[in-house]
Amino acid sequence: VVFFQGCPFDCPGCFNPETHPFESRELTTPSDILKKHFDGALGLEGITISGGEPFMQPRALAELLRIAKADYNLTTLVYTGFTIDELRRRPDALDALRHIDVLVDGRFNEGLREETLLARGSANQRFIFLTDRYSEADLVMPARVEIVIRPDGKVVATGFSNLLIPC
Ligand code: SF4
Repeated sequence: VVFFQGCPFDCPGCFNPETHPFESRELTTPSDILKKHFDGALGLEGITISGGEPFMQPRALAELLRIAKADYNLTTLVYTGFTIDELRRRPDALDALRHIDVLVDGRFNEGLREETLLARGSANQRFIFLTDRYSEADLVMPARVEIVIRPDGKVVATGFSNLLIPC
């Protein structure tokens, strides 16, 4: 998963508030991300883009998705706070849309928290299949919690609002 930095929406209850500020965190390039994490990696099916709001960096997003598909044969899943209708009205978003298998669209709505294992934060968000690579059955998560322990010892919980439901 690649998390883009910067989001204008400020949805109440957002699970990743540290990604909202438009400030530099890890400056890199699309090709370097893929080289670093995918060169020689075995068994990786696809790349997921989250944030933050990926479409606030539309050219970098399009380039990352294009290389992921063309050079690494990866599938692409993108989470965005924009709706697809809003994106289709933005000329700078169209290139990225061409390289996406599944778009999960719309702002997070705290009042509509997803209560199943479907891979979205709230039930208003839509799975939009832009290719025939996946269907909704592929977007059921195997577990409720993803905990990442980074090399520096920092523990990061990420995922979806249903993490807050007692197991
Ligand atoms: S669009 Fe996504 S990252 Fe941005 S505030 Fe809403 S839930 Fe958080």
